[in-house]
Amino acid sequence: MADRIAELLAELQRRNPGEEEFHQSVTEVLASIGPVLSRHPELDRHRTIERICEPERQIIFRVPWTDDHGEIRINRGFRVEFNSALGPFKGGLRFHPSVTLGTVKFLGFEQTFKNALTGMPLGGAKGGADFDPKGRSDGEVMRFCQSFMTELYRHIGEYTDVPAGDIGVGQREIGYLFGQYKRITNRYEAGTITGKGIEWGGAHVRTEATGYGTVIFAREMLNARGQDIEGMSCSVSGSGNVAIFAIEKAHQLGAKVIACSDSTTAVHDPAGIDLDLLKQVKLVERARLTEYVDRRAGSEVIPDGGIWSVPVDMAMPCATQNELHEADAKVLVANGVKAVVEGANMPTTPDATALLTDSGVAFGPAKAANAGGVATSALEMQQDASRDSWSFGYTEQRLTEIMKSIHRTCFDAAAEYGDPGNYVLGANVVGFLRVSRAMVALGVI
Ligand code: NDP
Repeated sequence: MADRIAELLAELQRRNPGEEEFHQSVTEVLASIGPVLSRHPELDRHRTIERICEPERQIIFRVPWTDDHGEIRINRGFRVEFNSALGPFKGGLRFHPSVTLGTVKFLGFEQTFKNALTGMPLGGAKGGADFDPKGRSDGEVMRFCQSFMTELYRHIGEYTDVPAGDIGVGQREIGYLFGQYKRITNRYEAGTITGKGIEWGGAHVRTEATGYGTVIFAREMLNARGQDIEGMSCSVSGSGNVAIFAIEKAHQLGAKVIACSDSTTAVHDPAGIDLDLLKQVKLVERARLTEYVDRRAGSEVIPDGGIWSVPVDMAMPCATQNELHEADAKVLVANGVKAVVEGANMPTTPDATALLTDSGVAFGPAKAANAGGVATSALEMQQDASRDSWSFGYTEQRLTEIMKSIHRTCFDAAAEYGDPGNYVLGANVVGFLRVSRAMVALGVI
C-alpha cells in the first residue's frame, strides 16, 4: 500500500507542476488513508482517491476593472469545483495577491473533506482572485466584485455551486458580488452565496461561526483529555474574521487571549486582548494593528512578529497557510503549550504538526476545527430555502451541536484506526469514507 500511495503522489505532482500547496494538502491526506484502502478494497477498485484528487471542473478567467484614476487593471479569477458527490459545490472566495491556481486547488481539496465532516449535503469548491483589496476604495472594490461576478455568475447557483467569503472577502464584498448576481440573473436567489447581511438573506452567527466553532472544537478536545479551556492563556494569529471571533468565544469560555497579529505586526497584551478596540481597529477602520498598541496601555509589539514566542496554554493559528513552522512549534512546546487548534486552513507546516503531535500536544486540524463556518453557511442555505430566519441563540446551539458531532466522529475514527487522539487521522478517514462511498454509489463520475 505504501508503494501505491507514493506512486499516486508522484503522479499527482507530475500532473500538477508547481502547485506546492496543493501537493502539501494531498500528501497529508494520503498519509492517512492507506489503512482505509486496505480495509475497503472496494473503494480502491473504484479508484475513488484518484478521482477525489482530480477537480471536477477548473475555471480561470480575466477580471478587468477600472480604478479611481481611470486606469484599467487586470486580475485573474478562479473557481475550482472540486467534488459534488455529497451536494452542490460549496466553498469560499479569497481575494489576496498571493492567490494562484495551486492555492485554490489546495483550499478546494481541503474543503471537500471538511464539508463531508459536517455531515451536511455539501460538495467542495474554492475560488478567488489575485486582487488585493487592501488600500482600495469602496468604489474600486465594488467594480472589481462586479466584474468578477460578471463571469462567475454562469457557473454558480443554489443547486450548482455556492460561494462564500474567505481572506479578503467579508460582508462588503459578498454584498457587491450578490448584488451583481441578482442584477444579471434577475432572480433573488439568496441561496447562491452565503455570508450575506442579516437584512438581505443572511444568517445570524455566520460571521462568528468559524472562530466560535474552532474554540468549541478546542474545548471538546481538551475535555476529552480531562482538561478545561477555562483559565487557559491563548495566542491567536490574525485579526480578521476567524481570529476575532475565536478570541470572542475564547473569552466567553473563560480563557484569556494575550496575543494576536496581522500581516505586518504581532501584539502582546498581557491583560487580555481588548476585543472592542480590536474590532474598531481591524473591522471598522481597516487599520494596522500598530493602531491597537498606540491606543492600548500595557500592550506591546512583539519583535520580529513572533507571535508563537509568547508562552501560552493554547495556540490558535487563524491567519493563513504555513504560518506556524517547526521552529515555532519547538518554542511553543518548550513553553509548555497544551493544545494547538487550527482556525485557518493548513496554517501548520507538516514538520511542525509532527513535532507537536510527537510531543503530546493536542492538535486540532483545520478541516475539523474550522468547519463551523461552512456548517453555518449550510444553515444559512436552509433558512434561504425555507424563507425563514432563526434567532442567534438557536443558530449558535445548532453550530455547537455540529462541532461536538464533528469532534466525536473524528475522535471515534482515530480510535477505530488505532491512534486515539489523532484528529488528523480521524478527520481524513471520515472525510474520505463519506465522499468515496457517495462516489461509488453514483457510478463512475
Ligand atoms: P480575513 O481576511 O478576515 O483575515 C485574515 C487575517 O490574516 C488578517 O488579520 C490578515 O492580516 C492576516 N493575514 C492574511 N494573509 C497573511 C499572511 N500572508 N501572513 C500573515 N498574516 C496574514 O480572513 P479570514 O479570517 O476569513 O480567514 C483566515 C483563515 O481562515 C484563512 O486560512 C481562511 O481560509 C480560513 N477560513 C476562513 C473561513 C471563514 O469563514 N472566513 C472558514 C474556514 C476557514 P491583515 O489584516 O494585515 O490583512
